[in-house]
This record gives sequence, C-alpha cells and structure tokens, in this order.
Amino acid sequence: MKFETRAIRTQTERTQHHEHSTPIFATSSFVFDDAEHMRALFANEAPGNIYSRFTNPSVREFEVKMASLEEGEDCIATASGMAAIFATFASLLSSGDHLLMSRAVFGSTFKVNDDYLRKWGITYDYIDPLDIASWQQKVKPHTKLLYLETPSNPGLDIIDLLETSQFCRSNGILLIVDNCFATPYLQRPLQYGADISIHSATKYIDGQGRVMGGAIIASKAIIEQIYPFMKNAGPSMSPFNAWVLSKSLETLAIRMDRHCQNALEIASWLESHREVLFVKYPFLASNPGVDIARRQMKAGGGMISFELKGGLAAGRKLIDSREMMSLSANLGDTRTIITHPASSTHSKLSQEERASAGITDGLIRLSVGLEHVDDIKADIRLD
Ligand SMILES: *Cc1c(COP(=O)(O)O)cnc(C)c1O
Repeated sequence: MKFETRAIRTQTERTQHHEHSTPIFATSSFVFDDAEHMRALFANEAPGNIYSRFTNPSVREFEVKMASLEEGEDCIATASGMAAIFATFASLLSSGDHLLMSRAVFGSTFKVNDDYLRKWGITYDYIDPLDIASWQQKVKPHTKLLYLETPSNPGLDIIDLLETSQFCRSNGILLIVDNCFATPYLQRPLQYGADISIHSATKYIDGQGRVMGGAIIASKAIIEQIYPFMKNAGPSMSPFNAWVLSKSLETLAIRMDRHCQNALEIASWLESHREVLFVKYPFLASNPGVDIARRQMKAGGGMISFELKGGLAAGRKLIDSREMMSLSANLGDTRTIITHPASSTHSKLSQEERASAGITDGLIRLSVGLEHVDDIKADIRLD
C-alpha cells in the first residue's frame, strides 16, 4: 500500500467492542492469567504486555506505523525527540568511543555532548555539514557514529545522504539522521543508506502543537540494542501521546503538502523583496543544495530562514509588528510560528558556535503554518 494509505490503515489493535478508531490503552500495567503466564512473559517466552514502561498497545501501534512510513524494520517511541537522541547515544556509545556530529544541529543536541558524553569519556568532533571532503581527517579508529540533520535546524543546510552513507560505510561508522524537518513523507533516510532515522514527533508528526514525543527507526538488530535503555532507564512515550500521534499520522501527507505549498510561495516572495538579505529554503533555485534536496526530498518542507538587510534590529521589529503569527520556540504546527534562534533555541551556544552552524544574529526562522497563505504574507510586515 502507498504511504497515505499506510498512515491511515496501519492498525494493530481492536478490542471485543469492534471500535473503528483505536482506543487509548491508558493503563500503567497489565494482568496475568496465572503464575505460569506471568513467568512466561517475564522470561520472554510468550508475547504480551507487562508494564507500560516496557510496552503498551497504543505506543506499539504508533511504533509500527512509524516503522512502516520510514521503511525501517522497527521503531522505538520515546517521551520526546531529545529522549530519542539520548537513548540512541546512551545505548550505542561506550567510554572510549568517538562521535562525529554535524555543526548544524538542534541546540539541546549539542548540550548532550557537553554535559553527558564528555563526562562519560566519549569524545566527539564537529564536522562542517557542507564539506564532506574535510570529514575523513576527523575519523578516529574508535569513531562509532555520525550524527546529522538535513535539512538542518535552523539554517536549512542540505546534506547529501547517499554520499554521507557511503562515507560512513567505508569507515565502519553508523549514520544517524535527525529527520525532524522533513518527516517520513518528504524524506526517508534509511532508503539512502542511513542506519537510524530519529524524530521529534512533537513537531510535524503531531503537527498541531499538542504533545511531546520522539521516535527511533532502524533495523531490528539496532532497535534490540536500544530497547533495554528504554525499558530500564524509562524515557518511554505515554499511551495518550502515542494515541494522539497515531491519529496525527493519518493526516501527515495532506498537511505536509500544504505546508510545502505555503512555504515555497512565501520563500519566493521573501526572496524577491528588496528588504531581504537572503532566504534559505531547500527548494529555492538559489539554494546551493537544491539539486541534492530535489534528489532526496519530495518537496521543500515548511521551514524557512531568512535575514533582513537591517539585521538584528530589523528582525526584532518584524517580529514585534506581527498580529497573527505566534512567537514561540515550537515548529511544525498548523499555526505559523516566527522565532529568533540566536535569542531562543540556540542562545546557549557562543556566537562563534552559532556562526559555524550558520546562525547569524539577525536570522529569523519561520515555521509556515496552514493558515491561508495571503494572511501569513500580510502578517510579515516588510516596508
Ligand atoms: C525539536 C527538535 C528536537 C528535540 O525534540 P523534542 O521533542 O523537543 O525533545 C530534535 N531535533 C530537531 C531538529 C528539533 O527541531
């Protein structure tokens, strides 16, 4: 079945009540028939649920759907996107291992390196996402993982997934792609040779700014390595959030089509405006990564970043003159959101670190929503 159909029709649960829509399995624990049943479940000799930190039917349905949409073998759902990233690192890296990470990643992802990996004796180096030729000299004998975002947050850099996965394979490194900005509808990293695709489901997967969630999609062998961390450290997804997110996936394709349509129109309009210094959007012809983006993405997504000729001051004025758009740190919502990364999501980084991630002080990030495109344009007040 096609993507849109699988997003709607993947259903792993139906109770004796023959409900059409899957109910929420709001239970922390499950009961056993007898002592032998309990023993068999704990011994992993029979299938079934024990405790919702381990498994829960609502969560499982979301996981099965995400694995199907990403075209991976299996999935683990987590409480947030950061929980997915942390669980992956904690499970796959050991003291003495080395990690390569793109310079252009989400602000909290950097903090995991500095605050936790460092004190556990895991070393890391940052790589320039747009200069694959410079990566080889950073590889060490104990380099285990390479982590990147494409398109990146907020600079919208595009990294060639095929070339990156070939680089990783020839060096015996696992490739992890944060696929949050693209969603499985626009880009499926495992098809291009990535080993793990990671999501903040809080963003487009929910798409309506309601719940937190994360997902890790990979081969069964990799998921088996990460699952014990979920079970024992406990960053599990709540059944309610899983239920919300499963329902959200039913409309992902149709929502993304409109996000992409609105964003492309706004990006082109901004680019032609005399007050605008530059616009970054994956599918703009002026984007240096446009050919790669067209190869690995179905459309450009809903995120735009841009800078006004007047820099920071003009950007702040634009933000404060809005009447409809939300000023918020979230993204991937039905509502258009405008934000200033240097004073919000990436404020914990030094100016130098921000510059190397392509975040100038005047950069404005726009998460283009599903309102009518004319109303969004009218709220971006340029002289
Ligand atoms: C938001 C975000 C995360 C973190 O996800 P949470 O659900 O907020 O924990 C990770 N990566 C990217 C690209 C994000 O935008």
